[in-house]
Amino acid sequence: PSITRGVTVEIPKVTWDDIGGLKELKKKLQQAVEWPIKHSEVFSRLGISPVRGVLLHGPPGCSKTTLAKAAAHAAQASFFSLSGAEMYSMYVGEGEALLRNTFHRARLAAPSIIFFDEADVVAAKRGDSSSNSSTVGERLLSTLLTEMDGLEEATGILVLAATNRPYAIDAALMRPGRFDLVLYVPPPDSEARYEILSVHTRGMKLGNDVNLRRLAEDTELFTGAELEGLCKEAGIVALREDISATVVCDRHFQVVRNSVNAALTKEEID
Ligand code: ATP
Repeated sequence: PSITRGVTVEIPKVTWDDIGGLKELKKKLQQAVEWPIKHSEVFSRLGISPVRGVLLHGPPGCSKTTLAKAAAHAAQASFFSLSGAEMYSMYVGEGEALLRNTFHRARLAAPSIIFFDEADVVAAKRGDSSSNSSTVGERLLSTLLTEMDGLEEATGILVLAATNRPYAIDAALMRPGRFDLVLYVPPPDSEARYEILSVHTRGMKLGNDVNLRRLAEDTELFTGAELEGLCKEAGIVALREDISATVVCDRHFQVVRNSVNAALTKEEID
């Protein structure tokens, strides 16, 4: 992967199978991302226009970034990643230049996916923040809108944005031809937690007493990121206990399970 000032270009290696749960959501993303890129002729044959932007929203650590990468992998698309917060903190004009440059490079590298993390920072409702900082946001937003509208003729470029605060996104971005598809990425339920634990223990040697189903039930409100951390930490606990350990056992998972509190609260997900 080559790195040019805050923009990373690569085809990600993450696949749909690396993401536990979210079956329906993966299907929708597949249709929105893979189809237009892999079967663009179908769209022109039927005279329908593919989705140009997808907004993923939901609590942190629940795989928005990973989903965007898996979609890019599935479509074998170049992946350009931008952070709203990073862009916002740049010198005057730099953020806009980075945006324009990224769209330009995405065109050259098409098929491409441009992923915007923390999109609400750039695409915040106009006039939402203090007068001084809002001008930075407003200029970035209008650049983003111009670039997205300019995608009309370009094919094979899709913008995926992620936010924890969808209500803060400017309505102008939700117009047809911009973010046509809005998908909620929920925190995992028990079945999804089981699948996530399975993904992240795939390469681990587990003791016979490890019961991932039970562990999934025992980790209500844990995000995917926290479950991944749980698996990694359990391995460390096993090693700490015995540097020549050959398997990770249930008690190692329990030590970690009992030492962390889920960051999400019930109110946040209802
Ligand atoms: P943020 O809003 O904080 O950017 P995010 O929703 O984009 O978070 P990711 O960055 O995709 O979340 O996920 C964080 C980590 O948690 C990743 O390393 C990923 O492997 C793991 N993870 C999250 N959800 C899942 C899942 N459903 N299956 C497998 N791993 C997951």
